[in-house]
Amino acid sequence: MHAAADRLLIATGNPGKWRELRALLDGLPFEIASLAQYALAPPEETGATFLENALLKARHARAATGLAVIADDSGLEVDALGGEPGVRSARYAGPGASDAENNAKLIAALAGVPPERRGARYRCVLVYLPADRVAAPLIAEGVWEGRIVDAPAGAAGFGYDPHFLVPELGCTAAQLDPAHKNRISHRGIALRALRERLERLAQRAGAPR
Ligand code: IMP
Repeated sequence: MHAAADRLLIATGNPGKWRELRALLDGLPFEIASLAQYALAPPEETGATFLENALLKARHARAATGLAVIADDSGLEVDALGGEPGVRSARYAGPGASDAENNAKLIAALAGVPPERRGARYRCVLVYLPADRVAAPLIAEGVWEGRIVDAPAGAAGFGYDPHFLVPELGCTAAQLDPAHKNRISHRGIALRALRERLERLAQRAGAPR
């Protein structure tokens, strides 16, 4: 579908996300580039929605490198917290907060909330920006429903995964091996949708650039 030389930059500095996105792009004829190859400070995530932030990251990376870019914005929406931490998931406990600090704040915020009111979901919006500035971006979204539990379990994944119970599997996201998580996660759903759209676009009009 693409010329073998097409370079695609995965514009995330989060190693957990990078691993998942890289694995999910496997088999597509792109030469994958990472932000580690460029001295590029991340943009401020000033958007009010995941889509705004994903576009902002993708545009920032394309402007600096001239490459086609995939960027995502994602986070956790907790019903009992009115959708928080949402777009602030990475910095819920403050700028530069660690996963442990964010998780501690989340569990404290849910103190006293019974299990049946602990519904939550991960949401991911992915944007593919072609290197060609006049070509339209492709956008895909994925949602993964779960429940927040106080006791952390599992060591895989990242972020809120040890507290994110997948009810139909009876385990947390951090107890899933990476391939299993990629099959069912918000990011996996969004990227498969994006892959399909890239492939359809290529069939209709030749290689998207
Ligand atoms: P972003 O880098 O601004 O998109 O922030 C995403 C944040 O949402 C991450 O730092 C995590 O806190 C959370 N998050 C998103 N996806 C996942 C996931 O798959 N597992 C755990 N936490 C996630």
